Amino acid sequence: MRTRIGMLVAAAMFAPASTGGAQAVDLGRARVIDLTHEIAVDGPAWPGSRAPFRLDTLVASPTAAMFRLTLNEHFGTHLDAPRHGSGMGWTNDQIPLSRLMGPAVVIDVTAQSAGNRDYGLSVADLAAHEREFGPIPRGAIVLLRTGWARYWGRPAYFGADTTVTPTRLHFPSLGAAAAEVLVERGIALFGVDSPSTDIGAAPSFTVHGVLARANIPSIENLADLGGLPRTGAVVVALPIKTRGGSGGPVRVVGVVP
Ligand SMILES: [Zn+2]
Repeated sequence: MRTRIGMLVAAAMFAPASTGGAQAVDLGRARVIDLTHEIAVDGPAWPGSRAPFRLDTLVASPTAAMFRLTLNEHFGTHLDAPRHGSGMGWTNDQIPLSRLMGPAVVIDVTAQSAGNRDYGLSVADLAAHEREFGPIPRGAIVLLRTGWARYWGRPAYFGADTTVTPTRLHFPSLGAAAAEVLVERGIALFGVDSPSTDIGAAPSFTVHGVLARANIPSIENLADLGGLPRTGAVVVALPIKTRGGSGGPVRVVGVVP
């Protein structure tokens, strides 16, 4: 089993021919980190979203259990298929596996976000990252660490001024100009540890559109990314394979050699 999984991850590493710096990972020695929040009734839901999650009992006895799951695609740690942000592009079932497994690049703006909850990753931040850690390779899975996972389940997570005005939110994420640079880099997948790829205060879903029109899927509501190195880890992020889905729950793991 260990050999088979090792081969799977190694295959993922070498699948995108243009990633450069591909490495094999020995799962027998690697540290595996869960980057996924639980899906639970008390999990934070996008303000104003209706009944995002239910688990109704169909069978509950001393010898058996079965529930009916009702879930908004965009609840908890979830993937946005390109169709979600653009009305075109891949749906869940169409995203190639090569986009969902690959070398991780972690960009850290926890310091900037701590001082400004409306912070958007800038082009200058990307340049600073690349000066220190090297160019972002084609096919990379770029994860943005804002530090917002520490607010999961607390009002500060969305930074809503009220519970009834979903447009007035405050949390950090990716800036639109930086999103254009990531498209130029040819990244495979983007993920963030805050509620959305657009900052909460953004007037529209510009970043959603930039990524989606480039057919780049993204992940929102990642758990704490602090256990990952800035480069050198592998990420595997496999969403539910709903036909025609605009997104859905995704289990995300980081594999640190
Ligand atoms: Zn979403």
